[in-house]
Parts: sequence; structure tokens; C-alpha cells
Amino acid sequence: MKQFRNNVIRAGLGALYFTGAHYLLRPIFAGVGAIFMLHHVRPRRDAEFQPNRHLEITPEFLRAMLAHLRERDIDIISMDEVRQRLIERRFTRRFACFTLDDGYRDNRDFAMPVMREFGAPFTVYVASDFAEGSGRLWWIALEMVIASASFIDVAIGGTATRLDTGAPAAKQAAFDRVHDWLRGLPGERDIEREIGALCARHGIDETAICRELCMSWDELKPFAEDPLITIGAHTITHCNLAQQTEEAAAREMATSRARIENVVQRPVVHFAYPYGDRIAAGSREFALAQTAGYRTAVTTRPGMIFPANGEHLTALPRVSLNGNYQDARILPVLTSGAATAVWNGFRRIDAA
Ligand SMILES: [Zn+2]
Repeated sequence: MKQFRNNVIRAGLGALYFTGAHYLLRPIFAGVGAIFMLHHVRPRRDAEFQPNRHLEITPEFLRAMLAHLRERDIDIISMDEVRQRLIERRFTRRFACFTLDDGYRDNRDFAMPVMREFGAPFTVYVASDFAEGSGRLWWIALEMVIASASFIDVAIGGTATRLDTGAPAAKQAAFDRVHDWLRGLPGERDIEREIGALCARHGIDETAICRELCMSWDELKPFAEDPLITIGAHTITHCNLAQQTEEAAAREMATSRARIENVVQRPVVHFAYPYGDRIAAGSREFALAQTAGYRTAVTTRPGMIFPANGEHLTALPRVSLNGNYQDARILPVLTSGAATAVWNGFRRIDAA
């Protein structure tokens, strides 16, 4: 089994399909449903350098996913309904739930029409500063800086470093290196400072990014009125909550909720942890989400939903619809649970 697992991990997600491994794993790992995680939904772009491509899928791939679920007679349900089924332990039918993080305008323009074709509900998690037009989407700022530059100067680990960003491959390597370095810095302010300096040197207007890509309050208000839509919260500043003091983390959760409720005029009871991985959301954050009154909170930890997740409603795993794997042949892999089981080292519940 260990050898098999290592082979699968090495070969990656695509191989799960081609080896047929997902059929072997399915009876054990299928779970009762899945919460899918998406970010952008928009037409494919041509540029060769697209380091954030994993965060976007095309409307066509979304449509293929929905058709696949319908074909398999899997219910497509809202987050409210996910919670209800978990609490009531109602698992006679398998379910899928669609969640989109950050509040991008393309969710309205490209995801919405496709979801509507299938009468499929979905949740959009809004970072309130993004809707305000003052948020910082530093991973996109970094992409824009590197796309426009032939080299960049950064102080990685305190050492002045010049990175070649000429050819697409060099751009990608530089992006990966700087991205990993920034994610490892102790606080949000450090990322802000470094990205701010890069943007200033390369003439990129960082706050314009947010206004260009994210729905404003004026846009969110009518969007939220559609019966298919649930608006959830995603903090104020899109910060790594685990790096904040407890007080600051609690404020990020409570204030974003209040701001969104004030605009959409309905209760906001679902939450998504920014970044959402082990280093951004752990047991303290899971407890804080509960204290803040959220009925559910989703992570980016990969996993299908099992009955036992009902006891960890603020630590729900998701299955990423990753833009690097937009191939219809991958769909049975995603819905089988095999891919996430491999990532989780074959543990079913991961809520510690
Ligand atoms: Zn996010």
C-alpha cells in the first residue's frame, strides 16, 4: 500500500485517472459529499506566464463538472443544507456544494450563468476590504510585477537578490521563489511592505487590482438577492488568521461579518479561512469561528465530507477545482475522493 501511495503521489492527480486508482479507493473514501472550492471562473487567457492559473477554471469546465454531478444523481446543495444534513445525519443521497472564495466579479459574470443553467446554488465568501476597494491581492500584484519586468530585486532572507524574470520559465521560477518566501514571513505587514516596494518600483497600482477584479458593495447587493446565492465572510483584509493575535483574529471574523450583513441585509453565517491551510487555520481559529457565531467554516484542507465532519462544522475540508487540471477525465477522480485521500495520507477526518 505504501509503495502504491507513493507512486500515486509522485505521479500526481492526472495519474489517478489513468491508473484507475480512484475506482480502487472509492468505496472507502467517497464520503457522503464534497464541498468544492473555486476562485475565478472566466474564459481561458493566452499568456504563457500565469502563475495563479490554479485559481481559475473556465465556464466550460464548471459546466462539465455540474453535468457530471447531475449524471451521477448527486444533489447540488447550499452550505445551509450541508450543515442541515450533517446535523440531522441525513446521508441517503450524496451531495456536492460549490463555494467560491474572495468575491471576484467573474463569479457573477461567468459562474452565475452556468450555475443558473443547472439551478445550482453556490456560496461566495467575501473579504470585506476587497468589496470596499481597498484590499490587497498580493499574489496577483506579484504576478503583474513579474509579468512586466525582466528582473526584480528582492531581499530574500535579508539578502539582496536579483531574480531573472525574462523568459516565461524564469518568470515562473521567480514567482514560486518569491511567493514561498512571502508566505513564510512572520506577518501580513511584511508581505504588504515587500509587495508595496515591488509595486512602487515597477509602476503597478496595487489597490486598482482589487477594484478591477472584485465585486464592489454596490454590485454585491443585487448579486446577493439571487436565491441561488449565499454570501459568506472571508475576513476583512484576507489575512492569515493564525498569525494574528486572538483579539485581531476575532475582530477580522466579527467585523467582516457585520460589514457584509449591513450591505446584503441578511444574516451571514458561513465563513472561509483565507489561505485556509494548516499554517493559516488551526484549532484556535476553528473555535474563534464558532464563537463569532458562524454555523460553518471551510478550510482549504483537501478532503471529502464524512458523517464525522458534523462534529467539526467550523473545520470543513474542501476539494479544489484546480485550474491546472481542467480535463473532463479528472471529474470522476474529484468526485471519488481518491485524490484528497491521497493528499491526506489516507486519514478520513482532519480537523485538529
Ligand atoms: Zn481567499
